[in-house]
This record gives sequence, C-alpha cells and structure tokens, in this order.
Amino acid sequence: MKIDIVTIFSDFFHGPMDYGIIRRAREAGLVTIEVHDLRAFAHDKHRTVDDRPFGGGEGMVLKPEPIFECIESLNVLPLEQRCEAKQNVVLLSAQGKRFDQQVAWELAKLERMVLICGRYEGVDERVGEYLADCELSIGDYVLSGGELPALVILDAVARLVPGVVGDEQSVAEDSFSRGLLDFPQFTRPAEIADLRVPDVLLSGNHAEIRRWRKREALTRTLERRPDLLAEASLDEEEEEILRELKRLRPERGAGG
Ligand code: SAH
Repeated sequence: MKIDIVTIFSDFFHGPMDYGIIRRAREAGLVTIEVHDLRAFAHDKHRTVDDRPFGGGEGMVLKPEPIFECIESLNVLPLEQRCEAKQNVVLLSAQGKRFDQQVAWELAKLERMVLICGRYEGVDERVGEYLADCELSIGDYVLSGGELPALVILDAVARLVPGVVGDEQSVAEDSFSRGLLDFPQFTRPAEIADLRVPDVLLSGNHAEIRRWRKREALTRTLERRPDLLAEASLDEEEEEILRELKRLRPERGAGG
C-alpha cells in the first residue's frame, strides 16, 4: 500500500515512522509512505498556506489551492474513478466519520491512501467537499492538527496490511476485530509476590485454554463494552458461553 501524507509539518513524522511495526512494514516494502510539505505548493515569497476566514472571526484557515495542487501532483485518479482503483483521499477532520477498527479494515484493502492534515481553524470547505473521498475523525475531541490523527490511522491500518504482522491470527483476534475485546495476557514469572497467573494457562491443556480465553474475552466485553456485542460475530461456542454469562450475571442498569 502506498500512503501519502500532506502536511505543513513534515518533520513531525520522523520519529513515529521509524519504530516498530510501521518501520518493519516500510522496510519490507509492504507499505510505502511519503510525506509532502504543503508549503512546497505555495508560490508566494512567504510560502503562505493559510488565510483569514471569509465572514470574519478568529484564526486562520488552510487555503485550498496548495492542497488541490499538491493532490494533483500525486497523480491520484479523479474522484469518481478512485473507489474502483482502490484509492482514497482522506481529510482528517474532527467533523468526519468516526475512525474505528472496521474503518481500519476497509482502508487496509486500499492500494493508495492520501491523508490530508488540517491545522489552525481547519481547512477550506471545498477540500472536503470536492477533493477528498471522505473525512475521518479519530474521536470526539479537537486536536490542533491532523498530524496525530494521520499517525493513528496509519498505525492502525498498516498493521492490517497482509504480511505486516507476522501472525495474522493475532491481528484477527485483537480487540474490536470481531466485536470483542481481547482476552487478558500473562507472561513469566507465573508468580510475583502472591500474584499468580491463572492455573489454566499453565495446564498445557489447549482446548481448555482456548475456552478460558473465549470466556474472558466475552466477560470483559460484557462488563466494559456491552455495546460491542450487538455487532459481534461469535462462533457457536462463544454464543453458548455468552448465554451462560448472561444467566449468571443479570443485566445491570446504566453505569453498572
Ligand atoms: N475548528 C475545527 C477544528 C480545527 S482543528 C472544528 O471545530 O471542527 C485543526 C485540524 O486538526 C483539523 O482541520 C483536522 O485536520 C485536525 N483535527 C482536529 N481534531 C481532530 C479529530 N478529532 N480527528 C481528526 N482530525 C482532527
């Protein structure tokens, strides 16, 4: 997958792209990332990328022309042909559709993803309306720029690109992938002070361990994020465990 990031702070991306899974994905050639400095597409002496809002008011707004010009230089297809070619231009915006693991799986199927990072009071509305395929928000809070959201999306998507995480089963079992939270993990030592790892994990009985993990994943989803269960895709054994858990633990009211 090729990912282009459009930003006025290209240096921002140096650290985060050089570690862990993103670094490995890049080195393996599975993900190619290019960061584009928006100021290179501003043609006045001061390389101006922002201007005052029409209608008055506080702050500055990112101008449309440098962004349109930058996207044009990237040779992405016109809007109406992008979907079929698995290309997507995304504007990061607090007002966009909420990014979650399902959206991450969708984006991981793309061949090309362009992320446009806003700053200041935001981006001229015509960018979202006529240039981008969609606007994405990483949550209901306002950040000062789209760079952190772009990195959040980049990280979540890159680890779903086939081959990036060695064990694909582990990605499929991560929290949210099937609408469940992940089961708890333990490592050595089996005991610290009087804190012991659950016996079943030391038993070597794989069938029992598998069932225990399903039960734990369901229990914590039921306790912490019951809203996820409505959309979860469960196998027969999980359905059965869930019915049992619900019998044992009658529904609590809000605030549980
Ligand atoms: N005035 C705008 C916020 C501008 S914040 C509003 O109220 O909606 C500046 C830039 O930061 C935005 O253009 C966007 O690119 C980015 N940004 C801020 N919060 C974000 C969020 N939750 N998700 C994605 N991008 C966000």
